[in-house]
Parts: sequence; C-alpha cells; structure tokens
Amino acid sequence: MRMLPLIAAALLSSAAAQEVPAEDHYAEEIARLTGEDAVQEAFAAIDAMRERSIADLIEIVETPAPPFKEEARGELVARMFEETGFGDVSVDEVGNVIARREGRSGERSVAVLAHIDTVFPEGTDVTVTREGNTFTAPGIGDNARGVVLLLELARAIEAADIETEADILLVGNVGEEGLGDLRGVKHLFREGADHPDAVLAIDGSDLSRLVTAAVGSNRYRVTYKGPGGHSWSDFGAPNPHHALGRAIAYLDEMALPVTQEGPKSSYSVGRISGGTSVNSIPFESTMEVDMRSGDPERLALVDAAFQEAMERALEVENREATQGEPLTLTVEPIGKRPAAKGDLSAPLVQHALAALRSEGIQPTPAASSTDANLPLSLGVPAVTMARGGISEGAHSAAESWTDEDTARATRAALLTLLAEAGY
Ligand SMILES: [Zn+2]
Repeated sequence: MRMLPLIAAALLSSAAAQEVPAEDHYAEEIARLTGEDAVQEAFAAIDAMRERSIADLIEIVETPAPPFKEEARGELVARMFEETGFGDVSVDEVGNVIARREGRSGERSVAVLAHIDTVFPEGTDVTVTREGNTFTAPGIGDNARGVVLLLELARAIEAADIETEADILLVGNVGEEGLGDLRGVKHLFREGADHPDAVLAIDGSDLSRLVTAAVGSNRYRVTYKGPGGHSWSDFGAPNPHHALGRAIAYLDEMALPVTQEGPKSSYSVGRISGGTSVNSIPFESTMEVDMRSGDPERLALVDAAFQEAMERALEVENREATQGEPLTLTVEPIGKRPAAKGDLSAPLVQHALAALRSEGIQPTPAASSTDANLPLSLGVPAVTMARGGISEGAHSAAESWTDEDTARATRAALLTLLAEAGY
C-alpha cells in the first residue's frame, strides 16, 4: 500500500453531512459477537497459532513474488490454504488464490483480500533475518504479513467451526503493487463476474487508519520521437528532450493551479529516459507520470491539464524547428486506479470501526490507494485494515516487521468479517 496523507478532516466533515447511523448499534453488535463462545474459541486459536504464523510468514517471504511473477508464491499460499481445511481452494486465470467457504444462505459473499505480490524484482535477496521479535526481509510486512492474517482467519474459523450466512472468500491476490495496476482485484470485479458483495482488504501497518476512501491514480508513459541527428550539423531539428522539458514546464503551469484548490490532488514526473550521447540530438525522450486524487473530478481535471500540456509542448517544439521531420507524441496509459469517496455510513465501515474500537484502538477514516479502490469505485462496500504488528521501511530492502500486539489486527478483521458475513 502506498501511504498517502490523510484526508481525514475532509472525510469527517463529509461524514457529518451524511446520515451516519448511531455508532452504538454497531458497538453492541460487535460486543455481542465477542461474547459468543465460538468467537472466544477463535480468539484462543489465534493466540495458540503464533509460532505457526511466524513460520508461515518466513516461508511466504522467502518465496519471491516479483511483479507479474507471483506463481510460486501463489502455489505456496494455495497449499497453505488447503492445509487449513477452511474451504475450497482454487487459483483463477490471473493467479489469484481463492479459498471459499460456503455460507448458510450463499446469497452474498464477503471477501478478505491480501496481495501476494511485492515491488521487488527477480533476484532480490529475500532471506529473513531475525532479531528478537523483529524480522527483516524485503516484502515481510507488505504484504506477506497480510497473507498470514488470512491464514490465521482460516485456521481460527475452522478451529471454532464457525458458520456464516454469506460465503466467505479469502483471497491472496496478484497485481496490487506498481504496474500490477490492481490486475488481481480487477479480475475479481471484471464484467460479468459474480463478484464479492463486500471487501475487506488487509494491507498497511497502522491499525488506527481505516481506509474507507480510494485515492485514484492515472499513470502514463509519454514519448516524444523524432529523426535525431548531430548536435552541431543538424542543429535546428526538433529535439525530443527539449519537447519533454517544455512538457514538464507546461504541466507545472497548467496542473499546479488545479491542485491548489478543492480536495487534495497531485502529479509527478517519476522517471525520465532517452538519448544517445552528449553530442547527439536524441531520437526519443520518455517520461512516466503519476497523478492522483481521492476525488474523481479533481483527478479528471489534473488529467486534462496534463494531456493539454503534452500536446502544447509538441506543437511548440515542432513550430520552432527550422529543419528535419516533426516530432511525434504518444501518451500511453500504464496505470489506472479509480478514485472513490466511499461511504462512511456503510455497515462494513461501521462494523470495521466498531471492531477496531473493541480492540482499544481509536480509528480514523483515511483515503489511500489499495485493492479496495476497485470495489469502492463500483459502489461495492470496501475498507482496508492494517495487517498487524509493526511494519517499517516498506518497499525497501531493509523492510522489517515486528511481532507486537499482532493478534489485535487478526481479531479486528475476524469481528468485521463475521459481522459483515452474518454470524
Ligand atoms: Zn501493500
């Protein structure tokens, strides 16, 4: 999960404007659930499986899952799901691992998701080192620990023989990170699919941040191409790098004002490449651009400013050239995560808030970019809850995870799931 600044204040003020049902009702429901013998049995099972969970965590992390190469980890997770006896296990066309436990009515389904992919390329050393309760390895928190939480849910529900009204799906999904572009969850919600009716995604480290809104992002690869040439003898021919430089300046000129009003929005040129040598006019200049907002309309405005800036740079660079073929421009979409404001009054959100409070946490609704983006954008209730323990240095080689109060997250997720699926 990319950690983005809270827009809690904006969310809370919009929540005040919405009809938010009395919290008491949900708190009572969670208290009632917690008092059930079977739920207490499940809680005891979570405590008892602590060492097992650590062993699972290490095995998962040490099975690499680079972007688009999640198969090996997927097979491992499928095998682990099968061992829990929780339900029918399958792997879908894109590599999502799904454990499905039938509910009494089967009219609805609630999915708990944890992404199995990492940001780390093939060949990254993923050996885990341990110092006390702290484990270090790339991907250990984000999101191997999230996957372990799913296994804990499976084992706890199985140990306490818990039945629910709705079907429960535990999904180790592919493609959350970077250019994976949510392809796992997009597949679950593809057109015509019998998709889940509610989604609890497990990702992120801070249990007090309940993600209820989706920061959307549009990403593009922009390429200016031309004839290239010699820096001296072909001087006057259009220069792709110069066009790209103008494009960035125009982007600032046109998109910055959009970001200075309304709900938070952003844009950034993240990567630039191209060129042959210092004394050559390049054939090609490329950049990758990311833009974001929690508000779909704001995101569309930033996008429109971006598109216009790219075209304007092309026109000006070609107009000022005195020789050579004109430049061409391609703007290729390389990522789209839909934005959504979410609905704080949705029972799922209220169940999750009440479950976190019952664990002594003061949760704050937040906006972020997670697997919940997709269902939220389709109007399907979704939240993202933290994975438990303390994660540090996500997306870095020195990433670490500390086993501290970890069971709280598992219990909160279990309570949310059971409340939503109908115990
Ligand atoms: Zn993540």
